[in-house]
Amino acid sequence: MGEPITKGIYIGGEWKEAVRGGTIDVFNPATLEKLATVPDAGDDEAAQAVDAASSALPAWREASAYERAALLMRWYEQIMLHQEEIARTMTMEQGKPLPEARTEVAYAASFIQWYAEEAKRVYGEIIPATTAGKRLFVIRQAVGVVGAITPWNFPAAMITRKAGPALAAGCTIVVKPAEQTPLTALLLAEMAEKAGIPAGVLNVITGDAKTIAGRLMADGRVRKVTFTGSTEVGKEIMRGAADTMKKISLELGGHAPVIVFDDADLELAAEQTAISKFRNAGQTCVCANRIYVHESVHDAFERRLADKIAGLRVGYGLDEGVAIGPLIDESGLDKVKRQVEEAVARGAKAVVGGRTAEPEGSRRGFFYEPTLLTGVTPDMQIMREETFGPVAPLIPFRTDEEAVRMANDSVYGLAAYLFTTNVNRAVRAAEGLEYGIVGVNDGAPSTAQAPFGGFKESGLGREGGRQGIEEYLETKYISLGLG
Ligand code: ADP
Repeated sequence: MGEPITKGIYIGGEWKEAVRGGTIDVFNPATLEKLATVPDAGDDEAAQAVDAASSALPAWREASAYERAALLMRWYEQIMLHQEEIARTMTMEQGKPLPEARTEVAYAASFIQWYAEEAKRVYGEIIPATTAGKRLFVIRQAVGVVGAITPWNFPAAMITRKAGPALAAGCTIVVKPAEQTPLTALLLAEMAEKAGIPAGVLNVITGDAKTIAGRLMADGRVRKVTFTGSTEVGKEIMRGAADTMKKISLELGGHAPVIVFDDADLELAAEQTAISKFRNAGQTCVCANRIYVHESVHDAFERRLADKIAGLRVGYGLDEGVAIGPLIDESGLDKVKRQVEEAVARGAKAVVGGRTAEPEGSRRGFFYEPTLLTGVTPDMQIMREETFGPVAPLIPFRTDEEAVRMANDSVYGLAAYLFTTNVNRAVRAAEGLEYGIVGVNDGAPSTAQAPFGGFKESGLGREGGRQGIEEYLETKYISLGLG
């Protein structure tokens, strides 16, 4: 396969250029080569996309759940049929190693499959009335047109996790993918077209985030905005939603703690921590970011984690055997460098890594070595801010209470992990953690059928699971007086 070819933005079932003809360049973060250009859409295109989604809404909402489910299943199948092409494009524009990209495509498709099934289970209720002459019904209806703004770290899954339940519920959607990763998003739209999803039901526009988001937020026909990205932008969206009282779902930053208790299976803990920490070069909102280890097992755990890190090859994601790709861009790399430098200057030690990486070949991208830091203290930047890079800081603790208290000492509350072989401890600690997702002896808990989302400043609402479709439904109460 050669360079990705783009057909334009996808509005109302048609592939289009930007009205004013502008384009934005897409780069490969591993090689710094230009990969493609995509239309630079703005206000006009966003308005067209909302028009298209509004026109498509009545027929899509009124189709039976079984009809929508059948089309979603076909979309799922088209994505899986083109898994390799989508995965290669993703690796080129985002950097993650090809095996990880393949896994993401399958994971992304699983949301469409799961919500195709869930479409059939949007049940209402009948409530007993106070008098014999009334019947009280509760029905669930699609909220309407949805605006979705997605990040670059999961270029496919962050879209399907929104579009799957939205379309299943009977909503139509306008997706604005991240500027770094528009190609995967446009491929998903191509698959939807091939699957026969009706024109206007799914629209994908690439371009300036602020302008497009501004249009989506201002338009009263957009009844719901769903966003995954930084807490800072999430707060802006929440403020912006007030004027037209849109429903919102926000999946924002995280700063996931890991607690390794003294009775943990250390091999499992090191393996699962490495999976959580180094997936996507540390660029996920559920990546392990603060690793609290009981002082009695600290050194043994450190050795095992160092061994796992030694096996991780840094390089271009399309090269065989690569486990860690580049960071997405220069500012991502600068943040990691700054956090590590600050920690080391204040007494931390980089026992593995600790600098930018130069993989073999002519790769000039934004690579950083997988890094293990010890001697970290809670006041260092790396323990307060999201890292979004391949750096694992270790901190010792003495008591269970201290570990949970330190883990909860964050404005974020997305994912937390703990390792223990004691079931009582597992339950107590899991219940005490102020996090939306807790992995117990599990570094990769997310899956289509379970609710994913955060407490505190990590966001609002849930994606995945039966909870995920609720976000796209309104409740209507019908009181019927009998004659
Ligand atoms: P990240 O740090 O992961 O890039 P962002 O929150 O900046 O997180 O980006 C996530 C998504 O939000 C992207 O699609 C981006 O284009 C979009 N975005 C960035 N700034 C704004 C904004 N002011 N309003 C709405 N969307 C934005």
